[in-house]
Amino acid sequence: LNQKLTQSQKMEAMGQLTGGVAHDFNNLLTVILGNAEHLAERLAPHKELSNIAESIATAAERGSDLTRSLLAFARKQPLMPKRIDIGQKILGMEQLLRRTLGEHVECEFHLDQDLWQASVDPGQLASALLNLVLNARDAMPSGGKLTVEVKNTSLGETDVDVNGEARPGDYVMVAVTDTGTGMTAEVAGRAFEPFFTTKEVGKGTGLGLSMVYGFAQQSGGAMQIRSEPGHGTAVRLFFPRVGTSQPSAAPSSDQPATPTGSE
Ligand code: ADP
Repeated sequence: LNQKLTQSQKMEAMGQLTGGVAHDFNNLLTVILGNAEHLAERLAPHKELSNIAESIATAAERGSDLTRSLLAFARKQPLMPKRIDIGQKILGMEQLLRRTLGEHVECEFHLDQDLWQASVDPGQLASALLNLVLNARDAMPSGGKLTVEVKNTSLGETDVDVNGEARPGDYVMVAVTDTGTGMTAEVAGRAFEPFFTTKEVGKGTGLGLSMVYGFAQQSGGAMQIRSEPGHGTAVRLFFPRVGTSQPSAAPSSDQPATPTGSE
């Protein structure tokens, strides 16, 4: 338990640091991007020079994508939570996810009947899921099986080991399980850190899981990794259930976020 607490305190400190840097950096990149695009236009008659300006703009845009992931980790990216059925949202992504995995990976979806509603930013949920599935694909280079599960889950006092952070209560759980390479304890312990990657340069940024982690936290939920080298990895996301007492006639979307209560 001690170690888990340290882990979440470490993430908190790292979040504060990266959040500040990413925010200021993003402003600088916006200036670079705007000016490079302007130059590219003005230099259009000089193909060689305008190509250089274009490549500056492209790099600035890429940098901007990275800082956006950092802001998500640092919980500084504003979420637009809606009250949704997470299962429906995930079923809507089924084709995309299957295509992402390719033909050599078998893919199964298991959804509970009567899933609870949760307050989640649907766009961020989609990007989190895609991140997890891309990691699973990379972990199964010669094929395997991916399972996506969505379940109603009640966490009691004794279950509160999800990074030492999940409170007792009702959650909708999304689990993404692969039969890939798995992670050593050392890698699993650092996997949420921004920029931690074991992938080749150009293949991984090390921002995927940190972004997913920040998203789960900011949604008032939690994230957990279970991994065994040689056997595979299961990543579980928990999103708090909402609206049990609301009359069903009330407008059901654009609910405010569940308080994150992190401070
Ligand atoms: P990236 O994918 O860019 O490396 P992530 O933050 O998504 O960044 O992942 C960090 C590291 O965690 C990966 O480089 C990999 O070592 C490990 N990892 C993440 N997901 C899995 C998985 N499903 N199976 C095995 N290792 C994983």
